[in-house]
Amino acid sequence: MTDATAYDFDLFVIGAGSGGVRAARMSAAYGAKVAVAEEYRIGGTCVIRGCVPKKLLIYASEFGHEMADIAPGYGWTFEGARFDWPTLRDNVGAEVDRLSGIYARNLRNSCVSIIQARAEITGPHSVKLSTGETVTAKVILIATGGKPYVPSEVPGIEHAITSNEIFLLDALPKSILIAGGGYIAVEFAFLLKGLGVDVTLLYRGDTVLRGFDDDVRLHVHGELKRKGIRVVTHTVLASVEKTETGLISHLVNGQTVKTEALMLAVGRDPYSDGLGCESVGVARETNGAIKVDAFSQTSVPSIYAVGDVTNRMNLTPVAIREGACFAATVFGGTPMAFDHDTIATAVFSQPPTGTVGLSEADARAKYGPVDIYKTTFRPMRYVMPNEETRMLMKLVVRQSDDVVIGCHIVGPDAAEIIQAVGIAVKHGLTKAQFDATCAVHPTVAEELVTMKDKWVPPIL
Ligand code: NDP
Repeated sequence: MTDATAYDFDLFVIGAGSGGVRAARMSAAYGAKVAVAEEYRIGGTCVIRGCVPKKLLIYASEFGHEMADIAPGYGWTFEGARFDWPTLRDNVGAEVDRLSGIYARNLRNSCVSIIQARAEITGPHSVKLSTGETVTAKVILIATGGKPYVPSEVPGIEHAITSNEIFLLDALPKSILIAGGGYIAVEFAFLLKGLGVDVTLLYRGDTVLRGFDDDVRLHVHGELKRKGIRVVTHTVLASVEKTETGLISHLVNGQTVKTEALMLAVGRDPYSDGLGCESVGVARETNGAIKVDAFSQTSVPSIYAVGDVTNRMNLTPVAIREGACFAATVFGGTPMAFDHDTIATAVFSQPPTGTVGLSEADARAKYGPVDIYKTTFRPMRYVMPNEETRMLMKLVVRQSDDVVIGCHIVGPDAAEIIQAVGIAVKHGLTKAQFDATCAVHPTVAEELVTMKDKWVPPIL
């Protein structure tokens, strides 16, 4: 279904990240003539400087703890073990290159034209490239993702790095202050600590991971401290001073923190500036998020947007699904709106966190009475090494119909477990149906189908 007589392309995608690549390839498979413009590297945040390299660093980070604290309980000793950052950094870089190459090859194999340039929208059907060329398309898709938020009003903030730079450091700092208490701050606090960095976490609230179930937040916050990460709460950066040996971060509460490095993880902004949104009338929220309807269509009918630039739920698999729904709707003849409800997600804390559905507090606010089933225990694998890490498992069950509306796990393999539990919660299974499922023994996950007693709040 190509309309290339009127336009250069049926679809012009801006941004070759998770959402843009999926939309481009699927639209091409439906018969559209497609081009994608990328100003940096094919693969976007997830592949180049997000989920993928982060997960590889986490694997690396876990080895030290496993060898030093877990393996000896099983009779293993490792003499002279040492960690070499340049080896890890370069191996991760090579893997990122490999994956970026696969993304590019897949685009080419799908007959999508790749244009290595920055693109700016100049009209409902036209885009100007940084090469000077102007291209026309029947439909334009904005899939430019997000970028780290930097509080520019803080004096000296230019000395800080963000998650963009951390993967490329010449050397790991001996000490680091990480500002923030969300996904990125928590993940990097654990992973850098595991790689031997002295970590301080600075969070403006009282307990990290706001928005998650309170038991999860307390559990993860406790694990941060138990791992030896200093956690400074209820304050933020006032200014940053560079010294001969590193940085002095002055906090609003008057405290100072001396570290070699400072990493900002205080949220991400939609990357929509300089795209020409104002001039063509693409409406945005005050934070720059592009406003879209359920089918990812913007206020300009020929322009759509998917992924983090729309700030709906900023997760890779969500961007991919939004991209797929866009292609089905616009080029596949089957209007599809992605359902953003009940999406499982993981925070790669150590141990990891997996969550799906409503927190206990949100469930009570939305539905009234709920039953809570929860347990904490030391997983079998940690008993012989006498490792104190505990597992948290929690089910939130709606009293009116016994449906499990939330599941929250912190502990080994939580990220893997929550993917499977997500199917049950997404499709409304009841606690009785969980209980009617036979356990897999011996596993930690069997607790999900063997928790019999409702949790009763202690009488104070
Ligand atoms: P988050 O939104 O998760 O967390 C931002 C943190 O910064 C919060 O703790 C917030 O505090 C704090 N903060 C915000 N503004 C300020 C400020 N002005 N001064 C001090 N602190 C501030 O953002 P992240 O950057 O961690 O991650 C961005 C998004 O990327 C995530 O929301 C997630 O969608 C995605 N992501 C997903 C991952 C995964 O799936 N495993 C991994 C990494 C990222 P408060 O809580 O008080 O608001």
